Amino acid sequence: MKVGISVAEAQQMVLDACPVLGCETVATVDALGRVLAKPVVSGRTLPPADCSAMDGYAVRAEDLSGASESSPAELAVVYEVAAGSEGGRPLRAGEAARIFTGAPIPPGADTVVIQEDASALGDRVKIGVAPARGENVREAGEDVRRGDLVLESGTRLGPAHLGMLASLGRSLVQVHQRPTVAILSGGDELVDPDRDAAGGRIFASNTYSLAAQCREVGADPINLGIARDTPEDLERLLRDGLRADFLVSSAGVSVGDRDYVRPVLEKLGCRLLFWGVLMKPGYPFAFGRFEGGRGPLVFGLPGNPVSAMVTFEQYLRPAILKSTGHRAWFRPLVRARLTETLRKKAGRLHFVRVQLAEKGGRIEATSTGNQSSGVLRSMVLAQGLMPFPADATEIRAGAEVRVQLIDEQFLASTESGV
Ligand code: AMP
Ligand code: MG
Repeated sequence: MKVGISVAEAQQMVLDACPVLGCETVATVDALGRVLAKPVVSGRTLPPADCSAMDGYAVRAEDLSGASESSPAELAVVYEVAAGSEGGRPLRAGEAARIFTGAPIPPGADTVVIQEDASALGDRVKIGVAPARGENVREAGEDVRRGDLVLESGTRLGPAHLGMLASLGRSLVQVHQRPTVAILSGGDELVDPDRDAAGGRIFASNTYSLAAQCREVGADPINLGIARDTPEDLERLLRDGLRADFLVSSAGVSVGDRDYVRPVLEKLGCRLLFWGVLMKPGYPFAFGRFEGGRGPLVFGLPGNPVSAMVTFEQYLRPAILKSTGHRAWFRPLVRARLTETLRKKAGRLHFVRVQLAEKGGRIEATSTGNQSSGVLRSMVLAQGLMPFPADATEIRAGAEVRVQLIDEQFLASTESGV
């Protein structure tokens, strides 16, 4: 087991150990946010035939070449084609067909005149414009051709992708599975938030924040409950978590007398790959796995509420995204100007919780204040985490820094931009 490694090395070891989950078939209607496990090649041409983009009259452009408002052409309306119909007999010179949006262009016709430019007189129509050939016609295959690679494997499915799958007649889609994440809290002082916290007890908040962090990236959290600070109770709950893809324990991974998580995990057959990462908050982070993949990946997160959330962000979140088939595993990085000078000791990388604000087209980052790992307000107020490199001791006010954007709503606007 390695001890005291860098954040970059820890991330690399976690991601190297993390498998991409297999695929499953789900209803397309439920597939928002899922990642395609197989490429989608179209079995259809869209639109399937040349069709009308407007309501009006299907015509032969050559019949109208001399038409104008002062000398309109008159055509015989020989039939009507509605969307979903098969189209009729070929149009001959001097003939038109009444047509509606989405209806197939009759053979012989090549153009659609919108109804606003036509006046119907019984079974004839007067047209006072000379349209360009092909006007208001959607060409067969202008969207998709049969055999086209429409969606690549690894695509994260958004609303347009689901619409495309539906338009190809795919009501089912093959996507990567989503991991289950078993979450355990541990500590004699902890009670669930709906219980009585009398006698100096504290509410177990990590289960809530960690489960929400799972849901944000499409993983299914399983709450294992709160273990007492005994090896027996920890073992009982950790065993229950062995069925999950990821097993997460918050608290009890330090070196205190009652920190039984590490020995219990080892007893269950988990091999810890490292313990202790040169970061703040979150030094006492442990990571392990079971030989031959016969068990979950194990993340021993520190118990302090901020440490638990920040270590989730740096290790679990990218692992979950990798496991679900995503190609990009990390938060967007934004460049910002630091508004104040920050100092620390060399040795550990600090994740400074920062508030972001846009000023004159630039983003400014300001620390959220007290950066203690127990101060959850520092996360509540933060839109970003600013890595303050391990070796650095000072970042000056005005310096340009990179910030992990943890609240992507920060980029949302109060203006529409039109
Ligand atoms: P530990 O890692 O057990 O030493 O815990 C570090 C600190 O985090 C202690 O103050 C604990 O009370 C607190 N803590 C541990 N687990 C949780 C939890 N699930 N929710 C909130 N605070 C916790
Ligand atoms: Mg504890």
